[in-house]
Amino acid sequence: MTGFLPRLTIPAFLLCVTAALLPARAQTTLKPAIVVAGSPELIRVSGHYLHVEGSWLGRKILFFPARDGSAWYALAGVDVQAPAGPSTLTITATTGSTVGELPRDLSLHVPIRPAHYRTAALTVAPGFVEPDPAQQAEIALAVKAKEAAFAQGSAKPLWAGTFTPPVPSQPTDSFGTRRTLNGKLSTIHKGMDFRAPVGTPVTAGNSGRVLLAQKLYYEGNCVILDHGQGLMTIHMHLSRIDVHPGDTVTQGQQLGLSGATGRVTGPHLHWAVRWQAAMLDPAKLLALNLSHLP
Ligand SMILES: [Zn+2]
Repeated sequence: MTGFLPRLTIPAFLLCVTAALLPARAQTTLKPAIVVAGSPELIRVSGHYLHVEGSWLGRKILFFPARDGSAWYALAGVDVQAPAGPSTLTITATTGSTVGELPRDLSLHVPIRPAHYRTAALTVAPGFVEPDPAQQAEIALAVKAKEAAFAQGSAKPLWAGTFTPPVPSQPTDSFGTRRTLNGKLSTIHKGMDFRAPVGTPVTAGNSGRVLLAQKLYYEGNCVILDHGQGLMTIHMHLSRIDVHPGDTVTQGQQLGLSGATGRVTGPHLHWAVRWQAAMLDPAKLLALNLSHLP
């Protein structure tokens, strides 16, 4: 004899009502979820909207729609020198469904947590620290060339899918390191160094357009790629440059060969990631899964 087992069944109409009564799911998400100074962030706003716009830490965020229209995305980030503390990621969205529609506020409070970067002391010849007038003129020209390049970015995403490393060698844990030169705090290392013997092919980490391809004082032979919507990658100290400003490049395309040009202590590739003047951790960008985007 079998015991009486009550069967738990929920009528379908009740399920529908339950779903409709649930509070709206989190509309806006960030990846990585823990935000530190130097983090690139993939922002996702779920929902069918006609337009989404935002700003964060004084920078405008440009969103693009997902292919199926069910969400909007943006790549953004927090500068390596940003102080830890609260921040507001301001986002508004419109559906375009009614005339005179008020934008919906999807803003988020985003705490920026302290990052733990290393400190390194370097000792160099005095001339290395204090450039002479001729060197200062060269540095000023380089600054102008970079500013002109940075001003030319595309408003649309030029990247597609997850970023790949620019050389096949292992990256070093060098981003964000506070460097002292001859005992004085000199710089914060705003890129990632890859060990690469002179002549190693350097490739584009993603598709984009060449904004700058020339020799600069500190950077040596330098290639700046625009990936759109404020995101750029910078390749320094090359021994040879194989691209020209205005060239369109695909992911994995050779940009040149690694070297030891500019102000370096030895051959390596310095790879930097810039989003609207914020310098981001290349390791975190490489770790971000963008495979289904844009
Ligand atoms: Zn470096």
